[in-house]
Amino acid sequence: MKRLGIYSLCTILLAPAGWAADPVTLRGYSNATAQTEQEWEAKFRAIPDPGNQRNYMQRLSARPHHVGSAYDKENAEWILSKFKEWGLDAKIETYDVLFPTPKERALELVAPTQFKAKLQEPALATDPTSSQNTEQLPTYNAYSIDGNVTAPLVYVNFGVPDDYEMLDRLGVSVKGAIVIARYGGSWRGIKPKVAAEHGAVGCLIYSDPHEDGYFQGPDFPAGPYRPKDGVQRGSVMDMPVRAGDPLTPGIGATKDAKRLPISQAETLTKIPVLPISYGDAEPLLAAMGGRTAPEAWRGSLPITYHVGPGPARVHLKLNFNWDTKPLYDVVARIPGSAEPDSWIIRGNHHDAWVNGAQDPDSGAVALMEEARGLATLLKQGWNPKRTIIFCVWDGEEEGLLGSTEWAEDHDAELRQKAAVYVNSDGNGRGFLQVEGSHSLERFINGVARDIPDPESQVSVWKRLQFSSLAKLPPNAPAAERQEIRQRPDLRIGALGSGSDYSPFLDHLGVASLNLGFGGEDRGGIYHSIYDDFYWYAHFSDTDFRYGRALSQTAGTAVMRLADADVLPYDFTGFADTIHRYIEEIRKLSTDMRDRTIERNREIDDGMFAAVEDPREKMLPPPKENVPPFLNFAPLENGWSTLQRAAEQYDQELSKAGSDGGAALAHTSLREANEKLILVERALTLKDGLPGRPWYEHQIYAPGLYTGYGVKTLPAVRESIEQKQWMEAEAQIARVGKVLQNAGEAIDSATAELKRAAQ
Ligand SMILES: [Zn+2]
Repeated sequence: MKRLGIYSLCTILLAPAGWAADPVTLRGYSNATAQTEQEWEAKFRAIPDPGNQRNYMQRLSARPHHVGSAYDKENAEWILSKFKEWGLDAKIETYDVLFPTPKERALELVAPTQFKAKLQEPALATDPTSSQNTEQLPTYNAYSIDGNVTAPLVYVNFGVPDDYEMLDRLGVSVKGAIVIARYGGSWRGIKPKVAAEHGAVGCLIYSDPHEDGYFQGPDFPAGPYRPKDGVQRGSVMDMPVRAGDPLTPGIGATKDAKRLPISQAETLTKIPVLPISYGDAEPLLAAMGGRTAPEAWRGSLPITYHVGPGPARVHLKLNFNWDTKPLYDVVARIPGSAEPDSWIIRGNHHDAWVNGAQDPDSGAVALMEEARGLATLLKQGWNPKRTIIFCVWDGEEEGLLGSTEWAEDHDAELRQKAAVYVNSDGNGRGFLQVEGSHSLERFINGVARDIPDPESQVSVWKRLQFSSLAKLPPNAPAAERQEIRQRPDLRIGALGSGSDYSPFLDHLGVASLNLGFGGEDRGGIYHSIYDDFYWYAHFSDTDFRYGRALSQTAGTAVMRLADADVLPYDFTGFADTIHRYIEEIRKLSTDMRDRTIERNREIDDGMFAAVEDPREKMLPPPKENVPPFLNFAPLENGWSTLQRAAEQYDQELSKAGSDGGAALAHTSLREANEKLILVERALTLKDGLPGRPWYEHQIYAPGLYTGYGVKTLPAVRESIEQKQWMEAEAQIARVGKVLQNAGEAIDSATAELKRAAQ
């Protein structure tokens, strides 16, 4: 039921337009509800306490707490007990998932010299939890298959598709070889995938000090950067195909769920893969011969980088316990008073690779203080319109297991009721970082304007605006500077993958945001035993003030979403962003065409042969068919429907708010809100992206060959990148229809709003 207050004539005359698109007012609120909301929000923002966050982190990170460990379960039960202590209705939901752990790991150089890799991160005397080795997971990549291979080594730089094109020109094949790739350039799971596609039989991934170690700054414990024996653990599940438990695709991994045999699990790697430190990598790389690595491929080790193959030969042996382990998702629910079947979901994971103070406890403790804050307001009489669900996920690290299984288990209900999902993960010191659905860009800009930055005297929004200006190169076009100054909203990035928003956004089509602070707290402890309380309290958000800022930002967002009269989506900014994506893709296709024509001509003219250094022979690139012109009209037509619908919705919202919202004072807006929730859903297709049906969203997806890195309008963009021109034409039509569907979904929300206003 609408709960707009009684307006005196005076208020109506003096008040500015309550629901105007002006981002300074509260979008989706009448004047009266906006005022009440701002009072509650101000009360909330005074509650989150840095000291509490510090204590929670010390407790959560006191011992290793990966999936299946004793302390993972203890932490879940402790978070549950805190939620209950604060008066929230909370429970643990359990799933059972495939979780391999190492039984045997061996890596040795067998020729031309001998060396046995240590595969062990040493305890440091100054760092008290680093010695908990009986509970620490060994260094490994989860969901690598078992294997026992001996082969010559080839250095493949980051191991992304472009690097293999260079290897072709160098005349080096990885067929039958073990590749060694450095971390960076893509999500780690891409490296063994591309290596296997090129015929490699094994894959090593190491942290080069250039990206992750002493080149960046002093190493731990003297500084925050990765020490010589530090290893980045991590999942290599084929997540660009699907997230979640490999044995229960598309369904919740409940006790009695039907499971695939392990041999049929699609998302395990095709070759064995192991992560190593630069301490272990250096002797292997130093023993390599063959071509000197191209300049861009060289890291910061004190050696000459060679590509190989050989003469270094390595033996890699991996065996895993293919166990099923329980997941403990902690879920707390605050029922909504007016629209209980509309859900605002807020999540952060609680599981870690080891002690996980930064990843994920720094985000989890912020979420806990939000939950305590909202629980406190409830006792003071705050009564949110919509249902709020706090989720503290298990099993994120292995492949977004806890969030994905929960999302798949509650699939039908979520598709109907979930309005917005707000995610965070590790947090740190610095600038607000926001990525998400562009229908929420205006909304989150509004929230950021109300959050004070802990270090400067401005809002986190203003600081972000200044930092965007400061980051522009001196010769940047004036238009870019002007946009940052004048566009009402700072642009937010699109979401790829890499945290728990993925099942909500990519699979279910729930509008999502990912929030966090960072940029002033770089370090090198990611997924190692050194990501612990000692490191965090010395090198990151040491006084937890940015933890408080995250609580304030995410908590305000959740409240503002849960209390709004009209859900505060904005579609004009969304349409503007979509148009930029279309233009990007159009340019991509013309550039590819121009480049191919030019390169074919250079090959025909004999340019490559003429400029080549006869002592450093490079093969010319192969000639390629010239890409055809593509017809982008279906995409443009779909976009114009979307754009017109977005403008009409905005006009209707402004009209409804022109008297401070009084016209709607006694009307139910539930139907309009129900329609609004479905707009993001209209951006999905049931059969998903080409070759990966789990990814239903047609605007955002992690790249098939970038992993975490986002591909926008992925079906079209990736068919062009992969030179599948027929497929590209088909996808342009299909995605054009999706944009039209979204326009129509917005139109039905506009119609409901109009009806309510009559
Ligand atoms: Zn994380």
